[in-house]
Amino acid sequence: MAITTDLSGKTAIITGSNSGIGLGVARELARAGADIVLNSFTDRDEDHALAAEIASETRVAARYIKADMSKGEDCRALIETAGTCDILVNNAGIQHVAAIDQFPVDKWNAIIAINLNAAFHTTAAALPLMRKAGWGRVINIASAHGLTASPYKSAYVAAKHGIVGMTKVVALETAEDPITANAICPGYVLTPLVEAQIPDTMKEYDMSREDVIRNVMLTRQPSREFATVEQMGGTAAFLCSDAAAQITGTTISVDGGWTAL
Ligand code: NAD
Repeated sequence: MAITTDLSGKTAIITGSNSGIGLGVARELARAGADIVLNSFTDRDEDHALAAEIASETRVAARYIKADMSKGEDCRALIETAGTCDILVNNAGIQHVAAIDQFPVDKWNAIIAINLNAAFHTTAAALPLMRKAGWGRVINIASAHGLTASPYKSAYVAAKHGIVGMTKVVALETAEDPITANAICPGYVLTPLVEAQIPDTMKEYDMSREDVIRNVMLTRQPSREFATVEQMGGTAAFLCSDAAAQITGTTISVDGGWTAL
């Protein structure tokens, strides 16, 4: 049988996809032919405009559904409102940096809720739809911090290690179904959020853009290059292809060698 990467007729729900990696993944899955459900917790004209833009660029159906991934009932409602879910990309995530003895309890709870608990709720709601459709892909956007640690990121590292563990369990529970579950572990990715930090860091260290990127931001990324949202999207599209049908319960690092150190 010829290997196909054509996702026509499939619907992909990508949580936290009105910017950054989530939007990059949505665009790439749309290019591969999947209908798209974008999501975040806001309900602005520009959120819906992003869906319209993807639809007009690629001719797939695309819509935006508001749901707050910090709330379990919203996570489940996202899947129920979409009504169909062949590809679930758990991407929504936040970060807070502080020593563990100073870590604000509300930040800990929010990070665990959005970066870990949300994937439990969406996966629980999506698996019955995938089983009914006879095909499914669960793709969790973890992090190099799902495999290694850094100081001051206790909640983030705990949530990302947690989602890597949950990915393995979902893979085992779906092993005899035509469903796979995997985690993508990005290193440092050049998202608008990261881009916005560069000018301030240039001023703070009196360094060029290149020096800030190479010698401040990417000291743990041996390639000394950011990964891109398009590369995350391409990796997600690969995991949806027939070539990846027997890849399940594992992690794919897209981190310029970070976790090889
Ligand atoms: P980003 O801030 O651009 O994207 C985060 C997305 O999550 C946004 O669309 C935001 O609206 C959404 N979001 C936040 N809180 C939400 C909530 N309560 N409900 C619904 N949506 C919510 O950041 P990003 O860099 O694109 O991060 C996306 C994912 O990739 C995260 O899980 C992050 O941990 C992971 N990641 C990012 C990097 C990186 O270097 N950028 C590296 C490794 C992993």
